[in-house]
Amino acid sequence: EVVAERPAAAPVPVASTVKVTNRDRAIFPESDVTKGDLADYYAAIAPAMLPFVAHRPVSLVRCPQGRGRQCFFQKHDAGSFGDRVHQVRIREKDGSTEDYLYVDSGDGLVACVQMGTIEFHGWGSQVADVERPDRMVFDLDPDEGLNFAATKKAAEHLKTQLAELGLASFPLLSGGKGVHVVVPLTPQAEWPAVKDFADRFARALAQAEPERFTATMAKAKRKGRIFIDWLRNQRGATAIMPYAARARAGAPVAAPVSWSELRDIDTAARWRVTDRDELLERAGSRALRGWGVADQQLPDT
Ligand code: ATP
Ligand code: MN
Ligand code: MN
Repeated sequence: EVVAERPAAAPVPVASTVKVTNRDRAIFPESDVTKGDLADYYAAIAPAMLPFVAHRPVSLVRCPQGRGRQCFFQKHDAGSFGDRVHQVRIREKDGSTEDYLYVDSGDGLVACVQMGTIEFHGWGSQVADVERPDRMVFDLDPDEGLNFAATKKAAEHLKTQLAELGLASFPLLSGGKGVHVVVPLTPQAEWPAVKDFADRFARALAQAEPERFTATMAKAKRKGRIFIDWLRNQRGATAIMPYAARARAGAPVAAPVSWSELRDIDTAARWRVTDRDELLERAGSRALRGWGVADQQLPDT
């Protein structure tokens, strides 16, 4: 397996030229994080975040009045975000087409914040070839009552099983409750093959250890188990993007970690918007070198 490396130097933050109004609006009232703070966070973290989020259809969680108020999940837009946010026309299941959003710059991220965005969720493929995923993700959703140690162990287990199939994977703290195991792919297989692989992989793990895992979404099947949410791997599905803020108490962010770092971490909400400088420094650290990068394909595709 060939792993392309990223430079070890910390990314240089960019200043945004997008006008942000109502900078003092409390977006995370419980932690004094304002709209201006959030815009500054995304402008600063952009060099670390863009390699994962740029050129990818995104869905946004927008909470224009702050995270305690009404929020909505937005997939489509025909141009109301201004010229820093781009559109890509994608065919829907029923044959019609819809305009999806994508960004390719820190200004694009900030323009979304100006429109009330907190979270960025991305497709598993890029706009240049939306039919061929460049990423597979297993979203581990622990039943309430399971501790983070159980989730970490599950993530490690997936890592080992994926490695046996020749696939490198990387852990992402969701910023919420779970861990996402991210598997970079060189775009080749199309969605149905990737979905089928993810389905069979998750079901095999659940069959081998039914007390511990379920591959079925039904809440009733989750009792004391970890749901291996493989459904992120179908055309049109999204997952939270690395370094995206979450619309949850305390302004946590989705944070990449190395497998060895994960062992010493005790919450999926380890880092917050206010940890921006530490996150930027970490992004250039040795531990995260090559995170999310691997030139690899599914077995037998
Ligand atoms: P946690 O670790 O707390 O589970 P998470 O980001 O994994 O955080 P999930 O509820 O497991 O949250 O959701 C997984 C993914 O499903 C989200 O990251 C998002 O991309 C997608 N998703 C969530 N809500 C919606 C929605 N309303 N419509 C479409 N997709 C959604
Ligand atoms: Mn989840
Ligand atoms: Mn899920």
